[in-house]
Amino acid sequence: MSDLLTELLYVVSVVLFALSLKLMSAPRTSRLGNFCGVAGLAFAIIATLIAFQVHQVDLLIGAVVIGAVVGAPIGLRVAMTAVPQRTAMSHAFGSLAVALVGAAEYYQEVPNIDPFSLSVLSGEMILGFLTFTGSCIAFAKLQGLITGRPILYKGRSVVSMTVLAAAVASGVYLVANQTQEFMLPVMAAFALLFGFLLVIAIGGADMPTVIAILNSFAGLSAAALGFVLDNKLLIVAGSLDGSSGLILGIIMSQAMNRSFVNILFGGVGASAPTSQMAATGPAKTAQAYTAEDVATILENARSVVFVPGYGMAVAQAQHVVKDLADILEKRGCDVKYAIHPVAGRMPGHMNVLLAEAQVPYDQLWEMDRINPLFPETDVAIVVGANDVTNPAARTKADSPLYGMPILDVDKAKTVVFVKRSMNPGFSGVENELFYLPNTMMVFGDAKKVLTDLVAAVRKLGK
Ligand code: NAP
Repeated sequence: MSDLLTELLYVVSVVLFALSLKLMSAPRTSRLGNFCGVAGLAFAIIATLIAFQVHQVDLLIGAVVIGAVVGAPIGLRVAMTAVPQRTAMSHAFGSLAVALVGAAEYYQEVPNIDPFSLSVLSGEMILGFLTFTGSCIAFAKLQGLITGRPILYKGRSVVSMTVLAAAVASGVYLVANQTQEFMLPVMAAFALLFGFLLVIAIGGADMPTVIAILNSFAGLSAAALGFVLDNKLLIVAGSLDGSSGLILGIIMSQAMNRSFVNILFGGVGASAPTSQMAATGPAKTAQAYTAEDVATILENARSVVFVPGYGMAVAQAQHVVKDLADILEKRGCDVKYAIHPVAGRMPGHMNVLLAEAQVPYDQLWEMDRINPLFPETDVAIVVGANDVTNPAARTKADSPLYGMPILDVDKAKTVVFVKRSMNPGFSGVENELFYLPNTMMVFGDAKKVLTDLVAAVRKLGK
């Protein structure tokens, strides 16, 4: 009876997990998707308690309380811009848990583990441990605790590959000599070191993609553990986690026109392209304007496209952007928002912020749909975006951005750039767009500039 109930609850969990992923892929249904995921996990825990006939639950309740006391404030307080590093920490703990459960299983079952199960267990522990240190480094880079630049040295690929090979060799030795228990910590140490070496050599700009890839490692590791423990739910949940991380990584790398190999081993971000260009290129000047100047231009605009980016998230300017959009719309101006797939620092970053500001979904236009409309757009207002508008991606074959699809804001009749300085974006590549004759630079924090702009537009309208 309890077996049947367990199986039933496992099926309910799996359906909820799959539904959760499906619902989370659209902003309108994402909250429900999140709820389904949480409910799926609750059913999974109940099913596991029934399956193993756990009656003494005081330790478990203690663990849940401690987890909730630590996790709830983090979940409530973490800034939207810090979600990538928070996600990295979740993966770090998840993968460590999976690796430690694998280690516990080994010590519990040795010397009666069949070679196939031990091979899977070793592979799972290697993935889990390397994901742990890799995720910790990703967290430290994104949080600014260590330099965001890739730390590169001669022969780093050889060193990293040797360490990985040593971890795999230790695993093979353990499978062949399973009573040699000392080999497990040796294997774990090499795997931990490999995770560290892998991620330390990757630039901060690539961390969100690295986190997605590490997510797929953690999922794969959990699925492998599911095979060893003969737990179907863990196999399915791990596979869903692993494949969704992989798909996300692929989407992000395609949006940046980069390969996984280039992201993981290219060491991109070590050089400073801006200063090189500034040293060799001709002197250029950008035109600084005030909010009042922009208000004058907006007075006659029939169509305006807002182009949000990371700076809008930093400034939390989404609400004031919406205020400006409302005023313009009331005047009969057509307003749209152009959404680049990697604007901000995580997939869907702009969608989430704009949804928070109650921007209607039908005003959000994906890159492929909005680009043909830029030539007919009177004003494109770029709010804290940079790389996703940089024409170097189309024209400069030696640029790290080359090949990345961009929003064609340069084709709009007037481009307004709202940012604090002439500094480049995440990629470190200078943006030629700042110097074009139809570009108006308005320097300052996006929230402050947009607030001034709203006031100036209202004043002119009186
Ligand atoms: P970006 O190129 O990083 O540019 C953001 C701009 O915002 C900066 O130039 C900065 O200029 C400005 N800014 C920062 N704080 C501001 C504030 N308080 N007020 C006004 N402006 C502010 O951002 P993006 O155009 O959104 O492009 C995203 C980048 O992240 C791309 O390179 C993408 O490949 C990378 N990335 C994204 C993801 C993802 O999933 N979204 C994943 C991996 C990598 P100032 O300092 O002059 O103000």
